[in-house]
Amino acid sequence: MNYVDWLDKPYYSLNAYFKNTYGQKIYKIAVNAGLSCPNRDGNLDTRGCIFCSKGGSGDFAVKLDESLGDELAVQTDGKASAGRKILSVKQQIVQGKSRFNKEAGDRFVIYFQAFTNTYGNPEYLRRIWTEALEEENVVGISIATRPDCLGKEIMEVLRELQDKFCSELDSHSKFIWVELGLQSIHDKTAEYIRRHYPLSEYEEAVRKLHKLSIPYITHVILGLPGETKEEMLETVFYVEQGVFEQDSHSKIKPFGIKLQLLHVLEDTDLAKDYRQGKFQTMEMDEYIDLVIDALQRINPEIVIHRVTGDGPKNILIAPTWSGNKKMVLNTLHKRMKEREARQGDYSIMLW
Ligand code: SF4
Repeated sequence: MNYVDWLDKPYYSLNAYFKNTYGQKIYKIAVNAGLSCPNRDGNLDTRGCIFCSKGGSGDFAVKLDESLGDELAVQTDGKASAGRKILSVKQQIVQGKSRFNKEAGDRFVIYFQAFTNTYGNPEYLRRIWTEALEEENVVGISIATRPDCLGKEIMEVLRELQDKFCSELDSHSKFIWVELGLQSIHDKTAEYIRRHYPLSEYEEAVRKLHKLSIPYITHVILGLPGETKEEMLETVFYVEQGVFEQDSHSKIKPFGIKLQLLHVLEDTDLAKDYRQGKFQTMEMDEYIDLVIDALQRINPEIVIHRVTGDGPKNILIAPTWSGNKKMVLNTLHKRMKEREARQGDYSIMLW
């Protein structure tokens, strides 16, 4: 059952969502706000999640600029890593936009990707999010974060900006999305990857965002060490089913899901375990079949923001086949055709 045009894909891709909503392609500009993460600055841990690269999973953000001094360390009230030099978010947006010519596209979403993007001084966050939302030709912002970093002050800022920029009555309305890095629902995995928050924290974050009508996108990693295929699909099913609203029998549904292949990246503790032979990464065929099984369980109204990984090639150790994203996507689409599979084939319509 399709309510919208999926273009030519057997699942509801983000690209299709943007085309349906804005009538054109929307380009993503990933920015680095110079923030840190409680999993790195010693608040919860100093080592980071076991798979997280030095770039805090933001390796595609507009590059840091060594010529600019440490302006950001002041801006973020000490939360930026010492000595990190960076363009301001506004400058990164301008630089990001300049990479596209008019024919390629002229509307953008600003993706706050690197590290934990609600972990900083609320004043600073208000300023950079506002700047991004005020930028011409920006349709919205997407903020990647941890569920345990949505405290009262941050939620107040989000409420203020949601009221100011995201009115349904305004034809120029923009959006604010929040992306939650869940990765797995299984405690043993959460412990292994050093996530440092319980599943209940994720559910609480979903409820808080729902109160502000902010759509959320959940990140799931497929291929984490020690997990069976069934366990991975359990996580996908849990996420797509949504979270119970308090004092109600209805569920809060995700706007989107990101399915990410586990990457082993240089300079991570995951790389050490991999090199010691403690686990193996997935083969492409195995991954493709798993993604198809996952998509078949996901309600067709949920937007699929990603079906593979985007590990930066210069630090990617394994699986190397994932470096050829085009081939992975082509194989996925071909295999879905062969299997006559589509997103939502087996989703239970409890919506
Ligand atoms: S929470 Fe995110 S930024 Fe922090 S260590 Fe984990 S993956 Fe990296």
